[in-house]
Amino acid sequence: MSNGLLGIEKLDRAEIEAYLNRAKFFQTHGEGQFKKLDTLRGKTLVNLFFENSTRTRTSFEIAAKRLGADTISISSSGSSVSKGESLVDTLNTLAAMRPHAIVMRHAASGAPHFLARHLSMPIINAGDGMHEHPTQALLDALTILDHRPMLEGLRVAIIGDIIHSRVARSNIYLLSKFGAEVVLCGPAPMLPPELAKLAPGVTITHDIREAIGGAHVIMMLRVQLERQHETPFPTGDYFRFHGLRLEHLSLAQPDAIVMHPGPINRGREISSEVADSRHSVILNQVENGVAIRMAVLEKVMGA
Ligand code: ASP
Repeated sequence: MSNGLLGIEKLDRAEIEAYLNRAKFFQTHGEGQFKKLDTLRGKTLVNLFFENSTRTRTSFEIAAKRLGADTISISSSGSSVSKGESLVDTLNTLAAMRPHAIVMRHAASGAPHFLARHLSMPIINAGDGMHEHPTQALLDALTILDHRPMLEGLRVAIIGDIIHSRVARSNIYLLSKFGAEVVLCGPAPMLPPELAKLAPGVTITHDIREAIGGAHVIMMLRVQLERQHETPFPTGDYFRFHGLRLEHLSLAQPDAIVMHPGPINRGREISSEVADSRHSVILNQVENGVAIRMAVLEKVMGA
């Protein structure tokens, strides 16, 4: 049974705080080079990505290397998965090589949980379908805490394709555990009313102006075309009603921050002016991703 990290939903505040506090120690704040540590020397991490990734995969790899671990990255297109091997067979093969942990991204919700039941080494979920993306929520919390003393009492607007977003779910669980007010906003087909029941303190609106009103944090999401089976919205319509533009920012708190897990689609869910504005912390999120993943790997793979 894995003692890795499968999701935020089952974690308590103390466990989340432990990751955040340790990650603060690893933060570089845009300065200098990180001096490599040897905490995980002699240990091997396998990065197994069945879905595309730029940020998350690179970030886990850099995090592991900064802690002195060896890493092997496998993506489904360059592996036997594309030759028809089943998930269980791929995993058993990898497990036979005795890595100390496996980081896994998969298009099916629950895939890492399934893996964790079958393998003895820790599994870290790097995004499973529409379900969870725990390290994203942790790095988002760390980024918010760079700007605010605490999460409690903050108004966080999460805007976009909520139903298909694992980033939204993990963030909803985390923010709600810490007493933030979460407002979900998106077009009706991407935001069914039952999502308000995911956690306490969550409300729903389809009006972007209402969502942003008084917000301390605006979290934009990409339209997850790869998970949609219905005809996608024309880009222009989507941007007109749910895209974030400079004029919206005057409705939020004056020092509100704008976040996005990436990859961003300029002119679809966010305008270039906002993405490049002083409110945007999108690249800080990327930088904090390494610190969070170091904290996670140290806990999961450490002695
Ligand atoms: N990178 C994030 C994810 O893997 C968000 C996105 O792809 O839009 O879920």
